[in-house]
This record gives sequence, structure tokens and C-alpha cells, in this order.
Amino acid sequence: MLSSCNSSKSANQIHTVQGDIKVSELGLTLSHEHTMSNYGKDISEASNYDSVQLFNQVIPYVKQLKALGVNSIFDCTTAYFGRRIDYLKKISEETGVQIITNTGFYGAANDRYIPEFAYKASAQAIADIWIDEFKNGIEGSQIKPGFIKLGFDDGKSPSAIDTKLFEAGLLTHLSTGLTLAVHTGENLEAMLLQTQLLKKHNIHPSAWIWTHAYKLKDDATLIDLATQGAWISLDGFKTPNTTEYVNRIKLFKEKKLLHKVLVSHDGNGFPSGGAIRPFQAILEDLVPALLQNGFTQDDVDQLLFRNPEEAFRIRIK
Ligand SMILES: [Zn+2]
Repeated sequence: MLSSCNSSKSANQIHTVQGDIKVSELGLTLSHEHTMSNYGKDISEASNYDSVQLFNQVIPYVKQLKALGVNSIFDCTTAYFGRRIDYLKKISEETGVQIITNTGFYGAANDRYIPEFAYKASAQAIADIWIDEFKNGIEGSQIKPGFIKLGFDDGKSPSAIDTKLFEAGLLTHLSTGLTLAVHTGENLEAMLLQTQLLKKHNIHPSAWIWTHAYKLKDDATLIDLATQGAWISLDGFKTPNTTEYVNRIKLFKEKKLLHKVLVSHDGNGFPSGGAIRPFQAILEDLVPALLQNGFTQDDVDQLLFRNPEEAFRIRIK
């Protein structure tokens, strides 16, 4: 919707950790990865990394990605769950890959990465924190978020806190135009609740990315949501599921919905200090497989260039 509360940003710009760029400058984009995260650690330690080990591991890896053609990475590690804008900035500077960080709190993982104050704060008070990061920068820096990252717990009805965080996300969208990427997976109750709340706030479904949608095996539901305008994120690509991904993406192409699909790996460059969970298989395996199975280079460009550009364009929808 076009609100009277206009975004201060033009719809052609996006924030990276090194400043604003035009969305057309994103280039080949991985839309859901973790340059680093401390998944599994306690919230009190989630932002602590051994920076020497981290840089030694991640910088050469991201340089490899750059050599494969990756130009931009949307980093999905939230505040209180390992987001380090200072490290992201250094990695981006050293590698030449543009990194886009997020605002929001991560409601999945049994709520262990939600800060205590969020339980008592109102949705508006939480939104105000995220809007402030958008307007003024994160943690006193000049670095601004390029999207909102949220989550719902798997396998259960949406909790009060996850629902409140999502409502805060909607308020943030209405004030900033940032897109919401929400860990939803195969939780259909969470999906339905979100679509209802988007409607209630008069926000178009294209403001919303169904993150980890690949986990749902019912393609008809994914197609239905894509038809409504939602972004379907097939973001768990690994080489062994090449055939599955090719077939699913084919389905979207047949329905003329290729323009609603995002592909990524949910990789991790430094998972709690462990070995890299790679995020290069799309370029090495999926793209060649698509081209051998009736997709054109233009289709591939749609998936890896134009769709991320459109999905993350800063605009109140
Ligand atoms: Zn993720």
C-alpha cells in the first residue's frame, strides 16, 4: 500500500554494509545465507566469535564465491543470534562481495534468540527499534539494514511472542518499505496467520518472503501463495537435491511464476566456529542442471539477478 508515511529511500536503492547502492547493482545474488552465525550457543554468547579464525576461514571462502560470480549476499543472521556488522563490513571490504544485513529478531529455535525485553514491549516499541536501525544505522554505525528477518517456531501454533514480532515487522515495513523474510518452513498455521495479518494491515503479499518454503512438500500451496504475490524461497539447495530443485522450479516456470521464486543455500561460513556449510552449489550444480533441462540463461538470470532485485527493493507494498 502507499502510505502517507513514505519511505525516505527511493525504490531503486538498497543498503549494504558498505553503504547504499542501486538495486540494479546487486548483480548475482544469494538471498539467504549466513556469513557467520552462532546457532546453538546461548543468547549471551551469540555475538562472540574468534575473529582471527573467523576471518581466516570466511574471507578466502567468500573470495572463492566472488570468483564463481557471486556479487551480493543477503545475510540472515539477526541481532541476538550472531549478527556482527563490523565483521560483515570487513569481509565485504576484503572480498568485494556486497553484503546486506538485516533488522528484526529471530523467533524460531524455540525463542532462544529473542531478547527478554521483547516479551514486555509493545509491537510498536519493538518496531521503533528496527525503524531506528533503518533511519539512523545499527548500533551507532552508519550501517543500515536491507531487510527484516523474523521467524516462527517449527511444528507448533504461532506463539504470542512470534506473532507480536511479526506485527512489529509489519509496522516496520509500513514505515520503511523493507521486505520481510520470515522463517516459516512447513508451518502452515504460521503461513496462514502471516497472510491474514498482511491483509489486515493492507500490505501486499509481495512484501513477504516465505523463508524455507522448500520444506513444504505440497507444491500446490506454494504455487497458490506465489500466485497471490508472495516470494517463495527455495533456500536449502544442496547438490544431492538437484533433481528435486530442477523439478520444483520447472513447476513454477510452467505456471508462469518463475518471477516469484528465490533460490539460496542457507549456508554458513562460520557455524559456531565450525567448518563451512557451503553456499556455492547453486553455481556449480543447480545452474548447469537448469540449463540442461530446458531453462534458458534468461530464466537463470531471473532467479539469481532480477528476483532478488525485485524482492528486496525498498518500497512500501
Ligand atoms: Zn538461515
